[in-house]
Amino acid sequence: MPMTSRDITVIGAGIVGIACARSLQRDGHRVQVLDPQPPGQGCSWGNAGVFATDSVIPLATPATLRAVPPMLFSREAPLTLRWSYVPWLLPWLARFVANARPRRVEAITRALTALCAAADDATARLVAGGRAGELIHRTGWLTIFETERGLAAGRAEAAERNRRGVNCEVLSADEVRSWLPEVTERIVGGLRSPDCAMCTNPGGFVERLADAFCAAGGDLEAVRARRLRPRSDEVRIETDDGVRATEHVVIATGIEAKGLAADVGDHFPLDTERGYHLMAPEAGIRPALPVMAGEHKFVTTPMALGLRLAGLTELGGTRLPPNPERFRSMLRHARRLFPTLAASEWSEWMGFRSTLPDSLPVIGRSPRQPNVSYAFGHQHLGLTLAGLTGQLIADEIAGRDPVVDMHPVRPGRWRMRG
Ligand SMILES: Cc1cc2nc3c(=O)[nH]c(=O)nc-3n(C[C@H](O)[C@H](O)[C@H](O)COP(=O)(O)OP(=O)(O)OC[C@H]3O[C@@H](n4cnc5c(N)ncnc54)[C@H](O)[C@@H]3O)c2cc1C
Repeated sequence: MPMTSRDITVIGAGIVGIACARSLQRDGHRVQVLDPQPPGQGCSWGNAGVFATDSVIPLATPATLRAVPPMLFSREAPLTLRWSYVPWLLPWLARFVANARPRRVEAITRALTALCAAADDATARLVAGGRAGELIHRTGWLTIFETERGLAAGRAEAAERNRRGVNCEVLSADEVRSWLPEVTERIVGGLRSPDCAMCTNPGGFVERLADAFCAAGGDLEAVRARRLRPRSDEVRIETDDGVRATEHVVIATGIEAKGLAADVGDHFPLDTERGYHLMAPEAGIRPALPVMAGEHKFVTTPMALGLRLAGLTELGGTRLPPNPERFRSMLRHARRLFPTLAASEWSEWMGFRSTLPDSLPVIGRSPRQPNVSYAFGHQHLGLTLAGLTGQLIADEIAGRDPVVDMHPVRPGRWRMRG
């Protein structure tokens, strides 16, 4: 049956929005993307560049909950809290804790495993026919540990991944050094995920995908969507430059999805995990592949434009300024891990991961409005899962069977009042 071509507006030109736009365009729809910023300038600009298809274990686990209390009082911890934000965070935290129950962890891990298993093929389809794929390199990536305790936890994670069919090897300290000659002698071991790939310029990756979208007739408009007014036959989008009417809307605005969804009558417990990065054009070292500091949870990635240290998690909402101590802490640890790290000029960046308390994204149609779809909440995996998200959104609109079970990511899984 030939598919009906529709006018579809994607709101948000991050990696997720552009991936949705490309998939819908390939299905023959007339697609427009709205974003006041150029493509790839939000969270998608500053990430660590890892297609982390091995990251199938959610953040909320009993082990995380046990580790959190001491972390909250440490300046060096990978997870920190802005105390003034706690009153706003409590409902999200309560749901996060509920999702750390073993039964939920198992269900979420299964869902993430299925999403990650389908992600590589979807990314390959996303980049086909354009220049974005030139920025992807199949290097694998490493996690390295400075303590026996960290390594023991890493071994357990590797076993768990292997049990689920994800390839993850445990390395001795010497094996780590054979991959990473620049690392400190103090390393006790590591993990290697050989099947993962990296992107050497995450912002440029989105720009190239957006170029391919425009070259194929797609339309990018530099306006902000202020309000949605869905009706049965169309959706009206009030922007800061007049009203647009469209047949279908995809909301892919990352951390800013909550307000637009509320216009539709859908309410999500969305909050942010703030993440930090430092970048130096010349750093004195250039690892051959991305390296996660196992205890400190930041990634050192050799990017096209220099060395990037990216990661950490700070729960603190979107309004508070960055915490300068987070940058200093990351740099202290990086200098310890790589004694020959020699950069003096670092640029600083902070971004907002959009995260639901169950570590799963929201992908699919609104339970209230069939002409509104959602694609947000990709937490640490937006680059990894963008191609698949675009495919799932396009499949649902076309009425095709999805390549993965959509049940765990469906928007209607949260029962919330406005
Ligand atoms: C430090 C750090 C490291 C990370 N490392 C990795 C990694 O290695 N691998 C990985 O897979 N993921 C990683 N991530 C996560 C990844 O970057 C995000 O999941 C991803 O960028 C989310 O993409 P997005 O398109 O949903 O959001 P964004 O990139 O934030 O895009 C949202 C867009 O919506 C636009 N917008 C917002 N409101 C409106 C509106 N009202 N109207 C129009 N437009 C609007 C914004 O301007 C923005 O351009 C990392 C994140 C951080 C912070």
